[in-house]
Amino acid sequence: MTDRVIAIAEGRHTKPLPDVGSLVGSLGAPGTISDTLGRQIRDLRISVTDRCNFRCTYCMPKEAFGPDYEFLARSQLLSFEEITRLARAFRNHGVAKIRLTGGEPLLRKDLERLVAMLAEIPGIDLTLTTNGSLLAKKAAVLRAAGLKRITVSLDSLDDRVFRAMNDVDFPVSKVLEGIDAAASAGLGPIKINMVVKRGVNEDSIVPMARHFRGSGHIVRFIEFMDVGATNGWRMDAVVPSAEVIRTIDAVLPLAPLDPNYRGEVAERWRYRDGSGEIGVISSVTQAFCRECTRVRLSTDGVLYTCLFATQGYDLRALLRASASDDALAAAIGAIWSVRADRYSEIRTAETAALRKVEMSYIGG
Ligand code: SAM
Repeated sequence: MTDRVIAIAEGRHTKPLPDVGSLVGSLGAPGTISDTLGRQIRDLRISVTDRCNFRCTYCMPKEAFGPDYEFLARSQLLSFEEITRLARAFRNHGVAKIRLTGGEPLLRKDLERLVAMLAEIPGIDLTLTTNGSLLAKKAAVLRAAGLKRITVSLDSLDDRVFRAMNDVDFPVSKVLEGIDAAASAGLGPIKINMVVKRGVNEDSIVPMARHFRGSGHIVRFIEFMDVGATNGWRMDAVVPSAEVIRTIDAVLPLAPLDPNYRGEVAERWRYRDGSGEIGVISSVTQAFCRECTRVRLSTDGVLYTCLFATQGYDLRALLRASASDDALAAAIGAIWSVRADRYSEIRTAETAALRKVEMSYIGG
């Protein structure tokens, strides 16, 4: 077994980190590992492509991700076999949930093959987040491959607003078709993610709640976050979740619900008339770093322990240097054991301006 964790990230937009080799030792043994704040790894997000067919203004704005933008080359991407090997190593350290994301994960060729490989790992709750554009075609095949649930992003039911936000003129109707196909394929309960941006789609909050109420799908309203370094984030563009709840409650009365599990990111609310539930994700106004059990694997195999990171750890280098399973597990253990991230708790205008890695690359 290798006794060092080497090749600490030179992910794109990242700086090398210090060598953490001295921490390796027994950290490869199966079992849960706590970070410096006592948090354990539960949830792995894997970006399977840094490409997307949308140019959502808050995520991959056209000005930064234009025709000259250099996406990763195929040889740089982790293969399905490499992803699955890492997923098994994470499973041994207590990961119980894997979310495939991106970029737009359904753009990755033969994604269902990866789903089938990951679905074979015992004890993993496997899910995927998509913009829904290709879902009508793919839902049944993903379900047959072993996918259990799905999250679809949809920022407005107003076609004009939605087309402007995705910035590629993509119609709402096609996403709704994708959601219906996912429901027919049995990928429920479906979650619908709506990022709320002041002055852009606030008027879409109530129509969105009304539309999906009673459908069994769960809409989650997400505060606009300062992810990456290109989305022009400003605090005054954030609509606090408390305001979203007040707005909906005024017309569709709500009552709070208990979390499904400790550390759940969305705060849950139910309609008082029994017609379903919604969630709010308040990573700006109510940071949940203390409970954060998530880790992110970029498209090219760099591991990030925070959505707002500027640096990561190059696991692909270990994989491609023929590291043993023990060495991989030890690397993951060592990385997690030194984790001290709590970005959202210490966010300021200065931290918001840091050159953080892009969400499309590390996975949303
Ligand atoms: N392409 C897929 C999709 O659209 O769902 C998966 C990747 S996307 C980066 C994952 C999620 O991140 C989406 O729900 C998206 O709305 C959300 N997201 C992206 N940028 C965000 C931001 N600045 N603030 C809040 N949420 C954001």
